[in-house]
Amino acid sequence: MGDLYASVTVFLVGMIGASIASFLNVAVFGGDNSMFKNITRKRSHCDNCERKLNFVELIPVFGWVLSGGRCWKCKRRITVLHFVSEALMFIFFSLIWLKFMGNFGMTFFGWFVVTYCYFFSIYDIKYGIVPNKYLLVAAMLIFLSSIIYVIYNGFDIHLVKNYLFAALGYSLVFAIVNIFSMLGIFPLINRKVQAFGWGDAKLALIIGLSLGVNKTFISWWIAVFSGALYGVILMLIKNKKIKGKTIPFVPFMALGSVISLLWGDLIYYTVILYLGLGIY
Ligand SMILES: [Zn+2]
Repeated sequence: MGDLYASVTVFLVGMIGASIASFLNVAVFGGDNSMFKNITRKRSHCDNCERKLNFVELIPVFGWVLSGGRCWKCKRRITVLHFVSEALMFIFFSLIWLKFMGNFGMTFFGWFVVTYCYFFSIYDIKYGIVPNKYLLVAAMLIFLSSIIYVIYNGFDIHLVKNYLFAALGYSLVFAIVNIFSMLGIFPLINRKVQAFGWGDAKLALIIGLSLGVNKTFISWWIAVFSGALYGVILMLIKNKKIKGKTIPFVPFMALGSVISLLWGDLIYYTVILYLGLGIY
């Protein structure tokens, strides 16, 4: 009975994540530049035949599977990205739940980090920017959760220093690369193609404030390696250099942050300290 209860809970938690992905996909990719208009518009419909989606099709993750990835009426293919993004959020929400089992403060904070990482990723993919007003919302929510943390656990100046140092340090990495890039000094980057936007530097502040020094350090390296790997794969597939195009970097920062949030401590203490490279 206990196992069944636990499984059902994990499933329901995953469905919350999948629903959030579904909602944010509509908000960002809904066809209008105003997220408010995208959300408030009448129920989702098939882009091809305009038919309103039925109850089954609207179920996150499973709707796509049960429909065989096609519209029920006109049989037009529905992009697999809906399924993939919802499944990803399903998995991450469940993993956060299992990781922080019973610690509701950490669980909610973990879900919050996963959600803003997902949102800023798809926003960057769609518009190529990190929107200031939502960064501000994220910053305010972090401030609010740190107040709640202090109420329950007391004020710890070392913790404050740690998170501020992580935020400024991570942000500074992007700021330095940006300045070098603007001056045309950075050897790897064409002067006209800016490596990272200032949005990345601002998002780095938020990530540092969320993860603290060790986990931010890990998230940075995962972002760099996964981003570089993606770039190499793209070049191999397209068989030519990507000219004038910037690869959105936010999804890699987000991936690094979520992985680090889940397993950062483990990675840090096994790999970094084992190699004797610990900075702290
Ligand atoms: Zn249709």
